[in-house]
Amino acid sequence: MDDLKYGTRDKRGNWSPSEPLEVAPFWTGKFGEIGRWLVGYVWPFNTIFMIVTLAYWYFVLPAWDTMRTVSWGWGLWLYAVNAAGIFASYGAVELFYYVKRKQGTRFKYNHKFPAEQPSEVFWFKSQNIDNFLRSFLITIPIWTLIEVATFWCFANGYSNWIHDTNYWPWFLVLIFLAPAIHEVHFFFGHRLLHQGVLYKWVHKIHHNSINPSPWSSMSMHPVEGTFFLSEMMWHLLIPSHPFVALFQLTSTAYGAIVGHIGFDKLELTDDGAMDSHAYTHYLHHKYFEVNYGGDGLVPLDKWFGTWHDGTKEADERMKERFRRKKERLKAVRPQEETSAPSAH
Ligand SMILES: [Zn+2]
Ligand SMILES: [Zn+2]
Repeated sequence: MDDLKYGTRDKRGNWSPSEPLEVAPFWTGKFGEIGRWLVGYVWPFNTIFMIVTLAYWYFVLPAWDTMRTVSWGWGLWLYAVNAAGIFASYGAVELFYYVKRKQGTRFKYNHKFPAEQPSEVFWFKSQNIDNFLRSFLITIPIWTLIEVATFWCFANGYSNWIHDTNYWPWFLVLIFLAPAIHEVHFFFGHRLLHQGVLYKWVHKIHHNSINPSPWSSMSMHPVEGTFFLSEMMWHLLIPSHPFVALFQLTSTAYGAIVGHIGFDKLELTDDGAMDSHAYTHYLHHKYFEVNYGGDGLVPLDKWFGTWHDGTKEADERMKERFRRKKERLKAVRPQEETSAPSAH
């Protein structure tokens, strides 16, 4: 496919889309676009997450009686399935688009591949090895622990589990709103992770991957992993159902890849491609202090002034914000210096 029909490539070879990113149309009064938006909302990602959730629910989760007691047996079983699922799904994108480089750098935001950029910040100087090991040794075990804890709570009655199936319209609402719950949970936690020591000691590990690939999705400090994957636990607090909690978790864990694909479209056939929806979060990895949330289903970035839609105007707004921040810091520092001696 000709990627220059959809965007531009700069002198260095980095591609960017020509269409600006847009938040969900009902926030901007573009009601005529809701139909098209709805299709993109359901297909492909949320449909895939629902299929994975159904597969877990019917074929993976142990009986409720078993989950009443925590044991290594079902814990390790869940870890094995989670690890295998991520290895197969993230691994497939890595294999085709980063190892075999099936579509070269067409639609690729950063023209370089992580394998070409060794760096001291990574374990074994390799982004791929570092990201892979952190995912499988740290984040996926944390994911499994949270899953075990949540299902143990459901099994032992420490929840607001609605057993009455007559409430199915409420379950549907919750399923439909799960991505919105994710955006709100992720935005505020992520915003916090960008503050002072939390950034330095915790979130920096995820940001080491300035040019992310699928393996970067779950490359996190344990504190960040715990925050990121614990959003399923909201369903213990609100009147809900373990299936909805599982959908929330599955969308978070399998959905982490979405912002880290690195390509705007994944070519599937000669003239057919799948939109990746990766650009919003790619810009976060590039500029750090923009797009803390997701795609704009709940446009918190827009409301808090940190939205970057990929346009030159957004770039200018961001630079202006950085300039103002620098000036504010400059203005604060001399005061700190003058107040310091009084402590003596
Ligand atoms: Zn990221
Ligand atoms: Zn961040």
